[in-house]
Amino acid sequence: MASEIDLSQFWCWNEECPDYGKQDHGNIVIKQRYGKDNRALLKCRTCKGYFSETRGTVFFGLDTPRKEVLRTLSMIPEKGSIRGVARATGHDKDTISKWLEIAGTHCEEVTKYFLQDLNLTRVEVDEIWEFIKKNKKT
Ligand SMILES: [Zn+2]
Repeated sequence: MASEIDLSQFWCWNEECPDYGKQDHGNIVIKQRYGKDNRALLKCRTCKGYFSETRGTVFFGLDTPRKEVLRTLSMIPEKGSIRGVARATGHDKDTISKWLEIAGTHCEEVTKYFLQDLNLTRVEVDEIWEFIKKNKKT
């Protein structure tokens, strides 16, 4: 595992915390490392809450910023197909399919992103999931 982690990529997961969801806010510090993978236990200095570095890492390692990935995925119900979204955004069809795949395996987290990053409503998010599920079957 990498020993250096970019703390600006993390945020507090405690919904009661005043700094909940704020990225690169300076409130997140490394508390300790644990396990054979040497994972970091992170701490929020604001609410004193702890969480693992694996939280919120769904879209790490992609070349595209998370918000852009989310924005692209959120267009799918409107455009009606991956091909349509690819045309509208300029992203490769296969790339979008890969993002869908990732999103589909981390529903809970990705739902949070949709609500938090894009300010979508629950109904809009449900529509996106509907499409993702349908898309998987066909
Ligand atoms: Zn906090």
